[in-house]
Amino acid sequence: MKFELTILGSSGAMPFKDRFPTAQVLNVHEQLFLLDCAEGTQMRMSRFRIKRGKIHHIFITHLHGDHIFGLPGLLTSLAMNLRTEPLHIYSPPGLKNMIDGLFPDGEKGPPFPLHYHELDTSQSQKIFENKALTVYTIPLSHGIDCNGYLFREKEMPRKMRKEKIEEYNIPYQDIPKIKEGEDWKDANGHIIPNHELTEKAPSPRSFAFCTDTSYNEEIIPLIKGVDLLYHEATFLHEDLDKAVKTNHSTVTQAAQIASKAHVGKLIMGHYSARYETLDRHLEEAKAVFPNSYLGYDGAQFEIFLKK
Ligand SMILES: [Zn+2]
Ligand SMILES: [Zn+2]
Repeated sequence: MKFELTILGSSGAMPFKDRFPTAQVLNVHEQLFLLDCAEGTQMRMSRFRIKRGKIHHIFITHLHGDHIFGLPGLLTSLAMNLRTEPLHIYSPPGLKNMIDGLFPDGEKGPPFPLHYHELDTSQSQKIFENKALTVYTIPLSHGIDCNGYLFREKEMPRKMRKEKIEEYNIPYQDIPKIKEGEDWKDANGHIIPNHELTEKAPSPRSFAFCTDTSYNEEIIPLIKGVDLLYHEATFLHEDLDKAVKTNHSTVTQAAQIASKAHVGKLIMGHYSARYETLDRHLEEAKAVFPNSYLGYDGAQFEIFLKK
């Protein structure tokens, strides 16, 4: 049961050498969720073998171009591929108007159902749920309506001990209830306690996607203890003045948020094109939060099941 993040683009506002602007794909149990869709997203998908037809949900943080300019091209490709399955796009208000405006008068939109979900950015909300996970918004502070997104895997049912099925000859139809935690009564009326028949399911996994934002401690309670935090780190801390002026964060600030929220792992990205190399970013982050990693185009971070 996969829970894996692939970084498609790690650059800030401008593409730079081998860094494309923001887009990521989260694979949860083989369902793909696209996070932001900057210019070049399709190129990166094809380079890193992400099948665009498998995406049914796109989560857009905000309407700055470096997070959405790949959308019109992606929608066009999906239409050319004769997609028929619905596509859901979640974003702050205004995206539908922008995209609709790109179609010339009289021309119809894509030939598949396209559902826009335009979201409030003032408080965290549950916006999506399926069998495997729940998605919540994380209001961010970027001088424009902006939401991060929190993906929480659902609690899995307890696991049956196979040898106990044979030992007690448990009928197949009784297994779902036992997995939900019920004890089991055999033909002679003996009750076998659930803990003897099952073992604990692995802990649910979580990922928080926080971009773009200035330093904002209000997100800490929302992201507390997540396994994986992606937090933008546009500038080195020596350029704090630039971060403050543009509503972005420094590496140190991203690491401080990771540390205060006790997350498992910090992934950085959205680097300004002013930095040719990123060695100092890693050094600066690790000084505050040792389990910090550089996000780079093509990087994959898998969270494995743990008991
Ligand atoms: Zn940006
Ligand atoms: Zn922005």
